[in-house]
Amino acid sequence: MKMKLLDGKKCAESLVTDIARKVTGYVESGLRKPHMTIILVGKHAPSESYVKSKVGSCEKAGFESVLIRLPDTISEAELLERVATINNDPTTDGLIVQLPLPRHINQQNVINAISPEKDIDGFHPTNFGRMTLGQKAFRPATAYGICKLLQYYNIPVKGKHCVVIGRSNIVGKPISIMLSNDFDIGNATVTLAHIETPRELLLDETRRADIVIVAVGIPGFITEDMVKEGVVMIDVGINRLENGKIVGDVDFEHVAGKCSWITPVPGGVGRMTVAALMINTLMAYQNNFNLA
Ligand code: NAP
Repeated sequence: MKMKLLDGKKCAESLVTDIARKVTGYVESGLRKPHMTIILVGKHAPSESYVKSKVGSCEKAGFESVLIRLPDTISEAELLERVATINNDPTTDGLIVQLPLPRHINQQNVINAISPEKDIDGFHPTNFGRMTLGQKAFRPATAYGICKLLQYYNIPVKGKHCVVIGRSNIVGKPISIMLSNDFDIGNATVTLAHIETPRELLLDETRRADIVIVAVGIPGFITEDMVKEGVVMIDVGINRLENGKIVGDVDFEHVAGKCSWITPVPGGVGRMTVAALMINTLMAYQNNFNLA
């Protein structure tokens, strides 16, 4: 099987170039630029790198961005106050509170406090609920990024058997809902597996799957014997090995040869997550200015 790479870098660049073109038009017509605010609490190396890539992407898209750094000693109440201030600031279109937060802060309380109109991560219950019901919403960025990648490469999804492994609120759960919904990129038949899925059942499912999406955070979780020839493999995992190397959840070296398409790590889904955030921010901006 001749495997082809689903190049997240190339796809993300193309999406951001399209966005930048639209932004240039809006600015030339006299409007301000779209504006993203990111709150980063404490010092967490992976978060630093994700935030850097979001700020860099904003520059490329022609957005303004502001990074607010807060100490990890901040109380939940103080953080909620900062969120409320940004919610009420008409010059910010989209707000991200970078996760994870320090343990003494209840993550869900903070997500719930973000205005649904500025929730470009798509984690707020209002957006998640609207997305689940098939209504217009900010779709959770990693899941939306995966859909955009499949669309960019014209990979058929409708009617396909898709297995999602991992049921986190930010990846597994939303992508399983989105791909099974009657969406522009959807209408698949989806199985959602998790830690309680018996091994034999998991193997039965993955070996029959046309598309496998894995988001468990375990290096080498998907092995060659788990998939059929021609599978489309989406690797969401980002795992840092002891030697500093970043790898996904797929044993790429041995699995890639069986795939028709596969995402590399890095350079796959991670890039698409940031691109999807740009799409959501543009949508928030367009909503603010009643643009189509
Ligand atoms: P998470 O919250 O830790 O969730 C992991 C999920 O995997 C859980 O639902 C867990 O099941 C399931 N799981 C764990 N071991 C399993 C097993 N042996 N068999 C079946 N299911 C198993 O992780 P996450 O936030 O979704 O992230 C997953 C990975 O994706 C991580 O490596 C993360 O760094 C990466 N990630 C990448 C991006 C990106 O932009 N590329 C974005 C987000 C996350 P239970 O629910 O039963 O515990």
